[in-house]
Amino acid sequence: MTPFPISEANPPEHSGDLPERADVVVIGGGVIGVSTALFLARAGISVVLLEKGRIAGEQSSRNWGWIRVQGRDPAEIPIAQEAQRLWPQLAAEVDTDIGLTQGGVAYLARDEAEMGRFTTWMKAAAPFGVSTQLLDADGASRLMPAANRHWPGAMWTPSDMRAEPFVTVPALARLAAKAGAILREATAVRLLDIEAGRVAGVITERGRIRAASVVLAGGAWSALLLRRHAISIPQLSVRATAMRTAPLPDIFQGGAVDSRLAWRRAADGGYTLAPEGFHELYVGPDAFRAFARFLPQLKQDPLGTALRPAAPRGFPDAWTTPRRWRADQVSPFERMRVLNPAPNLTKVRQTAAAFGETFPGLGEVEIESAWAGMIDTLPDVVPVVDQAARLPGLTVVTGMCGHGFGIGPAFGRIAADLVRGNAPGHDLSRFRLSRFFDGSALELGPNL
Ligand SMILES: Cc1cc2nc3c(=O)[nH]c(=O)nc-3n(C[C@H](O)[C@H](O)[C@H](O)COP(=O)(O)OP(=O)(O)OC[C@H]3O[C@@H](n4cnc5c(N)ncnc54)[C@H](O)[C@@H]3O)c2cc1C
Repeated sequence: MTPFPISEANPPEHSGDLPERADVVVIGGGVIGVSTALFLARAGISVVLLEKGRIAGEQSSRNWGWIRVQGRDPAEIPIAQEAQRLWPQLAAEVDTDIGLTQGGVAYLARDEAEMGRFTTWMKAAAPFGVSTQLLDADGASRLMPAANRHWPGAMWTPSDMRAEPFVTVPALARLAAKAGAILREATAVRLLDIEAGRVAGVITERGRIRAASVVLAGGAWSALLLRRHAISIPQLSVRATAMRTAPLPDIFQGGAVDSRLAWRRAADGGYTLAPEGFHELYVGPDAFRAFARFLPQLKQDPLGTALRPAAPRGFPDAWTTPRRWRADQVSPFERMRVLNPAPNLTKVRQTAAAFGETFPGLGEVEIESAWAGMIDTLPDVVPVVDQAARLPGLTVVTGMCGHGFGIGPAFGRIAADLVRGNAPGHDLSRFRLSRFFDGSALELGPNL
């Protein structure tokens, strides 16, 4: 199997001295941080993005590459639609082919109950003018003519897209650098620098950068840094396994999922595959603390999350990961430059077999590469996109709950506008940080 393309073994693409000051520091070089830096730089703001490992080393390269409106929370739909307007522009501006294709996204129903959930979502989504259609059993078969399985129906959004994540996000980073953003890899932020109760910059492993605004886009690590500054959010991460096949005949141009697996055509003629509805949660102190808040999500899909007793050493919620550290101490962020969980090989074998069984005409399904990522998630399955009232100068954009790649450019544009004091252009109240500590009842999103 070929190794995962982004790792610590790759030399940093973005390196150099750290500036002493900037208007804005962005923490995290995933799709959210990179997009934020891009839009800030384009607005003429001096911005430094700091990434502890490599650009897109974590979730932003490991995802399925689906860019979808389908199944999103109603509060996210207009933002996902904005992202779908931004993607073709960005694809035209970057220096490489990111494989952006409007191949559509299909959810092939397990049973009539699932068709019912699709219908409920379609009603909620209708006011936004989505292109989504409900297909009956014949329609589902027509969509997937090479399959030897039959589904009772499907939800199908022909305007949804796909792109190659591990090519895309590094390309967006180069675009941000071209626009004037300073990017630095292998540079962990240890702490926020706080003066007189507000953010005055960051303290990194390589020294201090002064900045009146800081954007935290730290993916699975955000809660750890926030808690160190007395802001507690119930963010957990689950291991999700994925894999890539060798090139195979064309059976479908988009992304599709049924009760067993997900498949998505890749730009090189292979498919990205993943087991459907299977995640693994390593139990640690944060999981214990947040357990009650995640109960509604667990009840909705009791078999979807397998519990594992402890995370590997150095993971954000491992039992031994320090929760307190000083500015002059090595932080958990630099102890784990790239969060690179091992894939679940049993699931890799089962998924490859299920793909071959579903599409027997493909012949042997050879898996070229398998990997896993830690998906950061929140109890209501929508992110935090907000300015922290308790810590003026801090903007938090995190907890993308498994769909941050597709929507990422729009949340980056929004974060840049929030920092600049501009109207974000969307109602962000559902994404407010305070929902976790102001006594609000959390409303579980559609999670489709
Ligand atoms: C297997 C899998 C499948 C998925 N499928 C899809 C999909 O099809 N479509 C979709 O839209 N989304 C999908 N997602 C989700 C999507 O990948 C994420 O929501 C998105 O990439 C999150 O982006 P991010 O920038 O918030 O976080 P990340 O990409 O995780 O980036 C955060 C970065 O911050 C850095 N960092 C953290 N703390 C610090 C610090 N203190 N100092 C410096 N750097 C720091 C980390 O090293 C990391 O690189 C999937 C995810 C996985 C794992």
